[in-house]
Amino acid sequence: MSKINILKPEIFNKIAAGEVVEKPASIVKELVENSIDAGATKINIQVFDGGISKIIVSDNGSGILPEDLRPAFLPHATSKILTENDLYNIATLGFRGEALASIASVSQVEVISKTSETNGHSIKLSGGEVVVEGEKGSPMGTYICVENLFFNTPARQKFLKKPKKEESDITSLVSKLILANPRKAIKYTADNKVIYSSTGQGLKEAIFAIYGSSVLDNLIPLEYENGKYKITGYIGKTSYFKPNRTYQTIMINNRWVADSIVNVAISQSYESYMMKHCFPFCVVNLTVPNDEVDVNVHPSKLEVRFQDAKAIFGFVYHAVTEAIYSDLTKKTTEETEVKEPTFELKRAPETQNLNYQNKQENTSEQSKSNELNLDFILNSPVETNELHDSADSVLSEIIIEKFASMPTSTNVETNVDTDISEPIYVPKPIQQQLITKENENNNDMLSSQIIGKAFNTFVIMESGDNLYFIDQHAAHERLLFDKYVKQIKDKNISCQPLLIPYTINVNSAEEQFLLDNLEMLKSLGFEIYEFGNLSFRITAIPSSLPNLNVENFFKNFLSNLNNYKQLKNIDLIRDELAETACKHAVKGGDDLDKEELIKLVKDVGNGDVTLQCPHGRPFVVKFTRREIDKWFRRIV
Ligand code: ADP
Ligand code: MG
Repeated sequence: MSKINILKPEIFNKIAAGEVVEKPASIVKELVENSIDAGATKINIQVFDGGISKIIVSDNGSGILPEDLRPAFLPHATSKILTENDLYNIATLGFRGEALASIASVSQVEVISKTSETNGHSIKLSGGEVVVEGEKGSPMGTYICVENLFFNTPARQKFLKKPKKEESDITSLVSKLILANPRKAIKYTADNKVIYSSTGQGLKEAIFAIYGSSVLDNLIPLEYENGKYKITGYIGKTSYFKPNRTYQTIMINNRWVADSIVNVAISQSYESYMMKHCFPFCVVNLTVPNDEVDVNVHPSKLEVRFQDAKAIFGFVYHAVTEAIYSDLTKKTTEETEVKEPTFELKRAPETQNLNYQNKQENTSEQSKSNELNLDFILNSPVETNELHDSADSVLSEIIIEKFASMPTSTNVETNVDTDISEPIYVPKPIQQQLITKENENNNDMLSSQIIGKAFNTFVIMESGDNLYFIDQHAAHERLLFDKYVKQIKDKNISCQPLLIPYTINVNSAEEQFLLDNLEMLKSLGFEIYEFGNLSFRITAIPSSLPNLNVENFFKNFLSNLNNYKQLKNIDLIRDELAETACKHAVKGGDDLDKEELIKLVKDVGNGDVTLQCPHGRPFVVKFTRREIDKWFRRIV
């Protein structure tokens, strides 16, 4: 038989603490919101070791009466709700009356507070139990110090992240609190280093305190109301986008909310100006009648529910599109120049490490003469090449070994007995390299030779009873790509210094993301280091990516911040490598000479080359003698 136990308050509080005190940042949030509720105009936040060892929040607010100090730590103790009706008209930030109780139950807390009518008093608790209490000199307001988080709940301590990560979460949160409270002077230090210090003089000043001066020229003021709703703040210009959502701050009735229909409406307003992986900048506050919004969907109160989401969406969309439109039309009348977005881009110097000459310039000349280059075709057998004499017989072997193992075009076609009355037989591309034991018949090895080329694009090789067409561009692209990848895998990377270092300015979430991935970036050949607060400097890029657009690369890179997928180094630059390989490979139409063709074919035959370009196109197609005979009805 089971017996129902009524939990003792200290146990109940520890459970409740799980809801409120998820991590150090949630403590900071609760404490700062209490300060704001107490009417403070100055708030000082100090954290140590990411808030794990210590969090101090002090304010110049109304203070707590000495007789209320103890009750403040009781669950459901609040000075903010008296009746049920108050629940539906909540103007203050905190109201659950359990934050202090929850925090105190899992840490060691000291509160010193003084109201205008009383002397300063202090109370110290450990794990929710009062340790000392008494009078203590203090300026007007409240000082709360929370130490040794989860000291009495080791299981939860294990879930704490590294101090740097917890600190970064606090920093992100504080940036939102500062933007949501532009009339409060908020100073935030982490391990005694000042991170933010806002003046309390208004929203533009608050934006400056968080994002620095560069953003100020890129703002469109927003102010719109329809009698019921009101939206105010700043949105980014249509030339100013950010690589992830961390630059969007949305408040509902002055309270920051993580995600809502408002974000969607704003993003959609920018849709026609925005590229992929871009997010508009915004710091806006939406004012909605208190009884039309439910802020209690989530215990940490970051989500909201609107009574009429459709109306809210329409209102915000209209307000933002109007503001964008008036900014754009203002721009054309004033003929202001388009601002450079976000990043200060410094171009990488160009270097080319081509194995093959890019002979693009010759192609037009070549196409002028309509003659077939018979000379080349007739003299092309590998054994006649003087430069590659010794390598050639080996070359033939390697190539043939590789190619003989490929399926014929008819193997790929499901119907082997293709209707021979078709005038032109076009084989399906070989989708993948199928090497099977049965196919390893290398009798024709010795007779392998390059017998010519077609359209300055396809190398034609004959090998026993097989004929191969190799797409020179796609083949070379694959070789270069593999070379780059191998260099990375072998850690044989080199970097190429940038003439002018490139600086990225980031926010704290991005900072942490970059710090987490710094080693990986270095392993790819980037030289990157933190350069002052919230800024990184890139002094070198991988030499395998000489034409890398550093700005775009880091924009893309930071767009991964919203993903949960673990980044792997090669994946990160796969597209860039493929693009570079494509750019540096010989082109279709380039007139390659014999040596170049031999080298290309030899390299393809060497080692485990996938017979597809990095984009997945096959570059070798094989015809068998049998097939060709069928074309001419030599056999049926
Ligand atoms: P809630 O904020 O939901 O009321 P809390 O546990 O956060 O519950 O706080 C309990 C009470 O302690 C508050 O209602 C308030 O009266 C008092 N209090 C907490 N922090 C402060 C502060 N910084 N200044 C003044 N009063 C405070
Ligand atoms: Mg509170």
